[in-house]
Amino acid sequence: MARQARYTIVIVGAGTAGISVAARLVRASKTLKGQIAIIDPQTKHYYQPLWTLVGGGAAKKEESERDLASLIPAGVDLIGDAVTEFRPNQNTLLTKQGTIVSYDYLVAAAGLQIDWDGVKGLKDAVGKNGVCSNYSYHTVDSTWENIRNFKGGTAIFTHPDSPVKCGGAPQKIMYLADDYFRKSNVRNQSDMIFASAKSTIFDAPKYANALEKVVRRKDIQTMYKRNLIEIRPDSKEALFENLETGEQEVLAYDLLHVTPPMKAPLFIK
Ligand SMILES: Cc1cc2nc3c(=O)[nH]c(=O)nc-3n(C[C@H](O)[C@H](O)[C@H](O)COP(=O)(O)OP(=O)(O)OC[C@H]3O[C@@H](n4cnc5c(N)ncnc54)[C@H](O)[C@@H]3O)c2cc1C
Repeated sequence: MARQARYTIVIVGAGTAGISVAARLVRASKTLKGQIAIIDPQTKHYYQPLWTLVGGGAAKKEESERDLASLIPAGVDLIGDAVTEFRPNQNTLLTKQGTIVSYDYLVAAAGLQIDWDGVKGLKDAVGKNGVCSNYSYHTVDSTWENIRNFKGGTAIFTHPDSPVKCGGAPQKIMYLADDYFRKSNVRNQSDMIFASAKSTIFDAPKYANALEKVVRRKDIQTMYKRNLIEIRPDSKEALFENLETGEQEVLAYDLLHVTPPMKAPLFIK
């Protein structure tokens, strides 16, 4: 027979969202102690916003890592397992290890999944030969390596044609790179390009207006409606699709910081 567990509130995902919700609920109501479970298969939690500073050379990636269990609020149970199926009509869900967990209320907070296969050639190219990304614990060191060793040329920073975690992160690393290139006297031998699938620099007009001034002041070229679709590491070329005309455009790079496309985790999709 399948194992069973029952809680008033079940939270799927112990990321920033899941842990915050659990903490607020137990703080708001003592009667919920022991009645809340968070389900997550990972044993480590990563404070992802720090990765911008790791890529910019201002922090070590190890500082972003904590044992997940140490962050779970007192009175909340952590179930170390992955959810594989939702059964909303029965108020239950199924885990990979075969437990049926039932609930009165469900909070789904499984985050976004990075789609490294969403750009041809990215998975093999990232971390090597000028291609880098802040979007994973495993690749973030390569960003600082590339920025630190940049000797001038073309540095491209991308923003994909999908929702992303932190709409500002694709640009923040670009501004940190610009700052370092100036300090290391290579900025005057460099072209910097922000190539984004979006039609403006930022969704919220108030911030877009300010950021347009920032890129002008820093002499960063912007290319909108450009979606990175392929990396050719041998020739150091990035292939973009123009989302307005459908035409393809090749840009040569010396440094390419990729914000990869992201999507819903498969079990939710
Ligand atoms: C480089 C970078 C810079 C950023 N900078 C900022 C910033 O400056 N400011 C800001 O506000 N935000 C920033 N963010 C975004 C911020 O980190 C995310 O928005 C936040 O982590 C999202 O929290 P979450 O809980 O939704 O997802 P996550 O923190 O990704 O957690 C999701 C959890 O769900 C779990 N999970 C997945 N599948 C299952 C499953 N099947 N069953 C159970 N659990 C599952 C995962 O293991 C994970 O622990 C940045 C992100 C990055 C990558």
